[in-house]
Amino acid sequence: MLSLISAVPSPPPREEWHFLQELRQAEQRCLRWQQDKGETLPDHLDLRGGLAVLREFPDPEGLLDTAYADLKRLLAIANLPEEGSVPCRFKQEETGVHESFRLQVDGNGITLSAGDTEGMRRCIYFLEEQLTAARGPALPFADLRREPWLRNRISRCFFGPIKRPPFNRDELLDEMDYYPDEYLNRLAHEGINGLWLTVVFRELAQTSFSKRDSLAEKRLEKLRRTVEQCRRYGIKTWLFSIEPKNLALNDPLLLANPEFGGAFAYDGNRCFCPSSEKARQYIYESVYDIFSQVPQLGGLINISHGERATTCLSTVASTDEHPIQCPRCSQIPKWQIHHHSTSAMIKGIKAANPDAELISWLYQPQPSTERGAWTYELARHLPEDVILQYNFESGACKKQLSRARLGGDYWLSYVGPSHSFSRVAEGVTTTQGELSAKIQVGCSHEVATVPFVPVPGLLFQKYHEMKKHGCQHVMQCWYFGNYPGVMNRAAGMLAFNDLTGTEENFLLELARPHWGEHAKVVAAAWHLFSEAYSEYPLSNDMQYYGPMHAGPVWPLHLKVELAPLAPTWKPDFPSSGDSIGECLENHTLEEALLLASRMQRKFDEGLLLLKDLRDAFASDQERLNDICVAEALGLQFRSARNILEFYLLRREFYFASDAKKVQLLEQMRSLVQAEIGNSGQMLLLCRQDSRLGFHSEAEAHQYCEGRLIWRQRVLQKLLDDDFTAFEQALAKGEPLPQSDFCQQTPTYKLNSGWNGDENTRWQIERLANNDLQVTLEGKEISCEHDFFFFNCVDATGSTFPCMITIKSDGNVRQLHPLAECCVKQTENGWTATILLPSLLWDRNPSIEPRFVYICRSVEMRDASKPKLRYDWPPHEEFPRARLNIYNYQGNYCGKLIG
Ligand SMILES: [Zn+2]
Repeated sequence: MLSLISAVPSPPPREEWHFLQELRQAEQRCLRWQQDKGETLPDHLDLRGGLAVLREFPDPEGLLDTAYADLKRLLAIANLPEEGSVPCRFKQEETGVHESFRLQVDGNGITLSAGDTEGMRRCIYFLEEQLTAARGPALPFADLRREPWLRNRISRCFFGPIKRPPFNRDELLDEMDYYPDEYLNRLAHEGINGLWLTVVFRELAQTSFSKRDSLAEKRLEKLRRTVEQCRRYGIKTWLFSIEPKNLALNDPLLLANPEFGGAFAYDGNRCFCPSSEKARQYIYESVYDIFSQVPQLGGLINISHGERATTCLSTVASTDEHPIQCPRCSQIPKWQIHHHSTSAMIKGIKAANPDAELISWLYQPQPSTERGAWTYELARHLPEDVILQYNFESGACKKQLSRARLGGDYWLSYVGPSHSFSRVAEGVTTTQGELSAKIQVGCSHEVATVPFVPVPGLLFQKYHEMKKHGCQHVMQCWYFGNYPGVMNRAAGMLAFNDLTGTEENFLLELARPHWGEHAKVVAAAWHLFSEAYSEYPLSNDMQYYGPMHAGPVWPLHLKVELAPLAPTWKPDFPSSGDSIGECLENHTLEEALLLASRMQRKFDEGLLLLKDLRDAFASDQERLNDICVAEALGLQFRSARNILEFYLLRREFYFASDAKKVQLLEQMRSLVQAEIGNSGQMLLLCRQDSRLGFHSEAEAHQYCEGRLIWRQRVLQKLLDDDFTAFEQALAKGEPLPQSDFCQQTPTYKLNSGWNGDENTRWQIERLANNDLQVTLEGKEISCEHDFFFFNCVDATGSTFPCMITIKSDGNVRQLHPLAECCVKQTENGWTATILLPSLLWDRNPSIEPRFVYICRSVEMRDASKPKLRYDWPPHEEFPRARLNIYNYQGNYCGKLIG
């Protein structure tokens, strides 16, 4: 089994990502015109004579050439004569805000009016949409006006490198074209007018403090090219950064300018302190230089707080209030640190390009409803022209199965806004600032292995709230959730919609151009998908480790291995193991299964409606692809449900009587067989659509043909080997076979006294009331960092692990609210006593802690002395850290007996 698992096939190389080819080709358009050729409808403009396209709109740079060419192409598809008899005029006329437009259709022809080129572009696309949605070659008389309430609608390239580990690829340094024309054409039609890409100031800029990097010219050259390519489609290029960057202690910039060094960052580097004139001059010059070197940039999106260490403000978490350890920043209100850095940035930007903008993003993902008061103060004190962006869903709170659940960021299934977004919005809008919402349009960390999740109804609700809260800009995605399709289209339409209509009408309007007379059925399917998706368990660990993304390639384990789950967005972890509890931060396994079952059931109802349309759209590849994506999601949700049920049954199995065991084993066998079938079905879909399984943040496929076949083999082997062995053992009344891990891991008998070495010892007692009491003792060693990590989990890894971090100064983290921890300094060291009340596992023996991993990590003040490290069971290294799961790993644990 192990050798098979280690042989997980690699995902397909970039040459086999067929969607790259598809994005270079024009979108296939199928008009669904039905009208009888001889018939003329009343109050309609008959188009059968063809359009006489009269380009009178001033466009000296030819920015609209791509839009006119696209309209011409549509007329050709519609078989309408070029240079026809129906006048189609393009007029410059005051229509309101930038990008606003007016479309008039009357007996004299069609008139498109706008005040600027981008308004005209939108109007041309709007006319195309009207033509596609029409029932025949005629348009109803109308006088329609549209204007966007979201000024910047910023997305990102689906396959652009993330400039982060493990690949660290930089799109500005390679030869690949990430913005082919037809891809941009689609995005532009979907209302997107900005795309972001990652930069680092020092890799581009030259200042009076620093020379230009040797690769800067190459980067700048490609950046200029990208800006020009995108502009032809009305799309601005936005830089994304986390600046000013923190400084290593030996950084020449810091050594030459000591006042750039502020508070110490968590990694030992110095935060960049913007609270001196000189530091602000450096920021100003960096930004000024980049925006001068690359004309026509749209602007800069900068994470000013929350991810990585930037300014001294980074040393305070969004939920904290504590003082800042910087001689300058400690003397001013916290909001002013943000003001210092962003005012220098906006000045630099505007001096180089008055049209460019700055979006300052507070990335505060904490799943808590409260924020430090300074966050709200910051929102009230923005420098002029700085747009503040906040995650729309950070700190999400929603009732699921009668209990409130909290989530961090990245929610499409939860509409929002969160409490913290509302408070930030209030601060910005009451002081006449500009507000941007960071959302996920196409899909999110909930399930990011499909190009998008077709739930436009949820987007409708979200945009409704965004408008109500005064949003004027939107960042539509992180790395994923941006593939062209129904969700992008919905977002684009919503940005130009006054949102006074109903969700139902919006869905119909959205469906009509692509699905024609079947629009109603499709809208009904989307509605069911939204209902299903709303049941997604609100828990970040379900997003980060759960089976919704790539369940069809998960192996299953009958024996208890406590092998870890893989982060869903990383390409370099082994496939997910059996520690299902790791994805259950907010829910019990039973609750997660119930929600997943509801999701699957409702989603399948919608899927039935869509699948029925296959024949009607047999020659429309784009719509067949849409059905294919929905089918893949159906399989993913089904797999996820099955996996959750499998591990719930496995837990029951280990605590059941022998007679019951036989029955449970049979139920598990059926689930494994169903999963072999699921992988097989997914395989067929993957052959049709290379987008399936691709995760933009992983820059790789998380499931693919090779892995699906591999998984089928692994599951078959599981049935042949382990299931058969279990059945035989049960029949003979013999002990069940155990995993190597369970056989070999050390055991500790409760109440058997101390365990440990000369510096560290511990013991665990079961008290009379069944509570567990853990005592940890550390001998004092001159040091600043002295930590105990106590991790435990139940016998089958079916609950979220309990992970407690205790510092010798009494600071305790990740303590469950029902647990207690008492830290005491003693004569020759310190002790920590943890009380785990049996209420924690509801006095249910099947979920009480049975595996523990204990470690102590001491870093000496004198760096020349070796670090002290103790762990039980002993391992060469601590487990590989995972987001939210820290240094817990089930198969590092020893077993508790007694
Ligand atoms: Zn400072």
